[in-house]
Amino acid sequence: MKKSISSTKTTNAIEKRLDCPLNSNYSITYETPKKKKIEKAPKIEKEWFYDLFLQAPSCIGILKGPNHVYELVNDLYLQLIEKKKDIIGKTVKEVSPELEAQGIFDFLDTVYKTGKTFSANEMLIKFDFHGNGKLVDIYLNIIYHAHRDKEGNIDSIFFFANDVTEQVVSRKKIEESENRYEELFQNLPLATYFCDAEGHIIKYNIAAKALWGIEPEIGKDKWSGSSTIYDKEDNQIPFNTCPMAVALKEGKVIAGEEIIIERHNGEKRNVASYPIPFIDVGGQITGAVNVLTDITENKVALQALKESESKLKEAQAIAHLGNWELNFETGIALWSDETCRIYRLSPEDNKHFFSDWISFIHPDDLDNVIAIVNESQRTLSNCVLKNRILLKDGTIKHIHSECRFKFDQNGKLISLFGIAHDVTEIKLARLQLEQQNKVLAFQNEEKENRTIELSIANKELIKRNTELDRFVYSVSHDLRSPLTSILGLISFIEEESQEADTLEHILMIRNSINRLDEFIKNILSYSRNNRTELEIEKISLQNTAIDIVDSLQSMEEAKGIHFEIDIKEKDPFYSDKLRFNTILENLISNAIKYHEEDESDRYIKITGQSDPEKLQFSIADNGIGIAPIHHSKIFDMFFRLSSNKDGSGIGLYIVKDTVERLQGTIQIHSEEGVGTTFSITLKNFKK
Ligand code: ADP
Repeated sequence: MKKSISSTKTTNAIEKRLDCPLNSNYSITYETPKKKKIEKAPKIEKEWFYDLFLQAPSCIGILKGPNHVYELVNDLYLQLIEKKKDIIGKTVKEVSPELEAQGIFDFLDTVYKTGKTFSANEMLIKFDFHGNGKLVDIYLNIIYHAHRDKEGNIDSIFFFANDVTEQVVSRKKIEESENRYEELFQNLPLATYFCDAEGHIIKYNIAAKALWGIEPEIGKDKWSGSSTIYDKEDNQIPFNTCPMAVALKEGKVIAGEEIIIERHNGEKRNVASYPIPFIDVGGQITGAVNVLTDITENKVALQALKESESKLKEAQAIAHLGNWELNFETGIALWSDETCRIYRLSPEDNKHFFSDWISFIHPDDLDNVIAIVNESQRTLSNCVLKNRILLKDGTIKHIHSECRFKFDQNGKLISLFGIAHDVTEIKLARLQLEQQNKVLAFQNEEKENRTIELSIANKELIKRNTELDRFVYSVSHDLRSPLTSILGLISFIEEESQEADTLEHILMIRNSINRLDEFIKNILSYSRNNRTELEIEKISLQNTAIDIVDSLQSMEEAKGIHFEIDIKEKDPFYSDKLRFNTILENLISNAIKYHEEDESDRYIKITGQSDPEKLQFSIADNGIGIAPIHHSKIFDMFFRLSSNKDGSGIGLYIVKDTVERLQGTIQIHSEEGVGTTFSITLKNFKK
């Protein structure tokens, strides 16, 4: 967009100086006295020149005559002096009277008089833009240049001005902050210095100078201003291994590495070093800053603290020892707090006499103590006293004292001193332990004796059991023969007698004899089970079961019961045949016995199968069943439920005993009124 000059006078002045009119595109009021000449002027060039003037990036203007009347100014100048209204035709003094006091008119006058160009950079001019006396600082790069007419006389002054206020102000701010930073850096209480990438010291502060005791040569001295450096163990180390050198070489921050520096006066200081390298965006190390804290005083204080701590500990340890000293000349004994505590005396009561010390020694140990002290005094050797003390309240304590003699410079014996240890608790614990050991030893002896007794009794019991078994066997065995004879006699009477009463009584006797025989057979079987070794042989399972069922079919109660036998012999089964028969006989005869006779569809199922490891089989009936409450007792000896049936209550006991002997298990599943199933697993003794 083209700019316009708002003043007719300004336009005229330009035309006059250019000696040509301006394009009508510009909003200029224009009258043409030399029309021909204008038409000849190259139009574009004129426009260009005028544009240049108006759009010049500097403030430009012409001051006419000795009073410096504004003849021409561009927009930028108007903006600079914040004058919107027309200033053309007015003197500078009229427009900006505040400049007079600042000597600006003197410069203009001189240029106008001498023709010498005046130029100044960053010249401070204070403008009163609003005429209210409030001066605003403006920095200008300014040139006043004299213009001469055709005769060579000065008729006006060209001026060019550039507003550099922003640059100057921001530069001044930077300078100010740099000054502040420098002041801060210099007055830092910590020694701080900078090195370039090669390690040359390029800057250091007052504290660093004070620490080193010299002023290093900038750009020449390297890494540290101290004369020599040492590691914290006080071994001298080369400068190029100091923390600053390491930080620069390796580009790493080092936090508080402790070293010792030697100042130029030979004094050594402990310092903690904190160098931080500067790394540019390309990863290059450009230098480093190092802060040194003087920790010499801390070190000394720490050392003093350590020493006083160890002294304190020593003192505390000593205070906790039961020290005592017995002066032979005065007869006075000094006791430490701990000694007083052992003797249950107040710590203030730390002065005693030899007689007090003696009076505490247990009467039974007194002679021994005195003998040892005398002997030790005679030979001037150390001694150890192990004695009891008897306190005022009757408490007895065990004390161990290590004693030594003290001599003066002339070798004269002054005192006996000792450290007493209260070992009562240890002693009591030891005594308790000894007693417990004794009790334990006694108990062990008792146990051993008891074990021997038990083993004797056990052997005796085994012997008795064996004898009892033999006795039971022989008695049972012997009993059976008269029973057989009685049964023979009964058969004879049954055949011979016609008497109904006699026959009835004989039947009752037969039943009783049968029951007795059954019982004896059971006893024999039990006795044999315990007495004899297993006799393993191959058992034909299905056939054995059929044989047993056949033999039991003769039982009165077996009538009408359907038998189902299905034992699958997948693998030959090996076990003790007689014992196996005992199990089957007992369970099947029970299944027959405990059926309701008048029930229909009565059955007994004997099913199972063998494998190389075992035989699993079950005997199930749909008889009277057993209520679950009795299941846990069913295998007990002489346990019976059905009193209306013949029996002795020993059958299931023998079954369980025999099953266990054959390394098997037995389980009952039964419900009253439903039936009973015995499930048995027996080991297959196949080799
Ligand atoms: P018992 O000589 O009385 O048959 P057992 O030891 O063989 O003695 O049986 C104990 C009791 O277990 C029996 O008195 C009977 O009440 C009950 N019992 C045993 N087997 C069966 C069964 N299959 N069904 C119902 N009850 C049975």
